Amino acid sequence: MESFDELLQQAEAAHGHMCAGQILGVRLALLGLARLGIADPRGADRKRLITFVEIDRCATDALALVTGCRLGKRALKFRDWGKMAATFVDLTANRAIRIVALENSRELAERLYPHLASKSAQQMHAYRELSDSELFREQWVRVDLDPADLPGYKAERVACARCGEGINFGRFAVVNGERLCLACARPELRYWQQAGPEE
Ligand SMILES: [Zn+2]
Ligand SMILES: [Zn+2]
Repeated sequence: MESFDELLQQAEAAHGHMCAGQILGVRLALLGLARLGIADPRGADRKRLITFVEIDRCATDALALVTGCRLGKRALKFRDWGKMAATFVDLTANRAIRIVALENSRELAERLYPHLASKSAQQMHAYRELSDSELFREQWVRVDLDPADLPGYKAERVACARCGEGINFGRFAVVNGERLCLACARPELRYWQQAGPEE
C-alpha cells in the first residue's frame, strides 16, 4: 500500500484540488483498512471490500480513491445522511467497522492552530497532525448485505410494464401482477417530474 503522502497526492489529482476533505478522507479510509487488516484494497484485496459512505462531500472522493470502491463497481454505496462517516465491510472476514469524524475536530483545529490564517489551513493541519482517536469514533457493526447488492450479482433484466425502460438487479416492484420500475410503482418518490407535455 502506498504511503499517506502518495495517496494524498493521488487524491488531490483525482479530486481536482487539495482540501481538508482529502486529508480527512484519506485518514478515514486508511484507518478503516487498517482495522480490517486489508493491505491492498486496489489490488489483491479488491474483491474483499464494500464501502458505505454517508456524505457526498470532498472526503467522499478520497474514500473512493483509497479504498478502490467505486459506484460503477457496485462496491461504493451512498447513503445520503449528511454525516462525515463511512462503513467498511470486509466480505471475506464477514465483519465491518463504521467510522465517524468527530464534530469537535473543527474547534480543536481552531484552538490548536490559531496562527494559521484560514479555517481551511487550520483544518488541513489538524487533520494531518491529530491522532485517530482525536479525529474519529469507531464502532464494529454488522452489515447485512443483500446478495443483489454485491458486485457481480446477476439477474434477469426486466422491462417495466408501464414505461418500457429496462431495469437491472431486480429493482422492480410487482404491482397488480405487473413488474414496474420504481419510478412507475412509486411516482411520489421520483426525484424528477415531467417538465413538458407527455410525448
Ligand atoms: Zn475538496
Ligand atoms: Zn416504468
